[in-house]
Amino acid sequence: NFEKASFKDFENIPELNIFQRALVFQQFTSYMEESGQMNFRFMTGQNGCGPEMWVTSPFNKTPKKCVSLVSNDYLNFTQHPAVKLAAIKGIQKYGTGAGASPLIGGHHEYHEMLQTKIAAFFGRTPDSALVFTTGYTSNSATLLALLKKEDVAILDMAVHASVYEGVKETNFKLFLHNDLDSLERILRDAQEKFRTKLVIIDGVNSQDGDLAKMKEIYDLTKEYGGFLMVDDAHGIGVIGEHGRGAIEKFNLMDKIDIISGTLSKTFGHIGGFIVASPEIINFLKFQSRQQVFSSTSTPAAAGLIKAIELIDEEPQWRKMLADNVGYFKKGLIDLGLNIGNTESAIIPVKIGDPHKTGDAGRLLLDAGIYANTIVYPGVARKNARIRTSLMATHTREHLDKALNAFEYINQKLHISSR
Ligand code: PMP
Repeated sequence: NFEKASFKDFENIPELNIFQRALVFQQFTSYMEESGQMNFRFMTGQNGCGPEMWVTSPFNKTPKKCVSLVSNDYLNFTQHPAVKLAAIKGIQKYGTGAGASPLIGGHHEYHEMLQTKIAAFFGRTPDSALVFTTGYTSNSATLLALLKKEDVAILDMAVHASVYEGVKETNFKLFLHNDLDSLERILRDAQEKFRTKLVIIDGVNSQDGDLAKMKEIYDLTKEYGGFLMVDDAHGIGVIGEHGRGAIEKFNLMDKIDIISGTLSKTFGHIGGFIVASPEIINFLKFQSRQQVFSSTSTPAAAGLIKAIELIDEEPQWRKMLADNVGYFKKGLIDLGLNIGNTESAIIPVKIGDPHKTGDAGRLLLDAGIYANTIVYPGVARKNARIRTSLMATHTREHLDKALNAFEYINQKLHISSR
């Protein structure tokens, strides 16, 4: 019964070998597509990230120009001339790859410069940052290396999949998203049982766009002798007066025990990083298997160094993004749509029913608006939504076109809460 099935049901089917299981999974994905719930063939962008994207879709083979509401490239630094030039110069100077993992010859001058830059960005000493291949790896590799059976990870249940990956072989407990009572119960219970209690939260929730109750969570964690790790993938670069992220907004920049960030969203490239005490960083350099056995950034990371500098040099991009977010949120609220508690550039339009949400995604695309349809297992079954994310370079025309399209689908599908 595919209607009730979820991805999890195909993780293992004891009586089927791997190829048979893959075949059944393919039948499931075809069913989901045919019943209009989810698209399993990638939309293909023709012109990189930007406020407008030319996309080919499984429904429309000729490229179509759309307003893009799908990118995490919030400041559009992937297209910033100075960032592109720095990346090109990096390649001209160092070539195209690192050549090996850091420990055995793949650590180059540009890695050192990048790590020093990241550490300084957070006001820490130069040996306080470590770069990984992706943000996903930063989280999973760090947790895999640090936590052992005497320790416990205490996760806000809404954290990213990479955190779950990192704790799957150790003790972990979940608390309800942003729920202090739920967290306190677990901390109290864990107090005597585990030598390390590591609480892990997102700065900005990646689906709802709301912020962590970070100050309260920090205080509670410390009251019970724990440590706090914040994955601020969607906050760093865009939130806070100086763009240091949700951790800056809550005045906790120098207090968070482990900061995790990505280089593939606001900074416009690929990679991830951890900022922590020099001792933790040193430990990870030699004890994280993904550091020891895997190569990291390419010389195009020179573009990243420029992007980090631009956060201070060109604050106007953050201001443009904030203006766009304010305008678009107001427009959606005026239409009576449910956007939840977002306080970031991630703005969900919550619909609930997965079939209606699938229809909404297709109608938006017909109207030239490319936004993500998020259904289970991306979110809980009754929590399907269209997920939009804004960029500094969206113009009022782009946003008005998107708002008009939402008004149209609301007339057709009645998705407003009014
Ligand atoms: N953390 C969060 C909260 C994320 O949303 C993402 C990206 N989806 C990641 C980590 C992983 O980042 P990356 O894409 O660099 O692997």
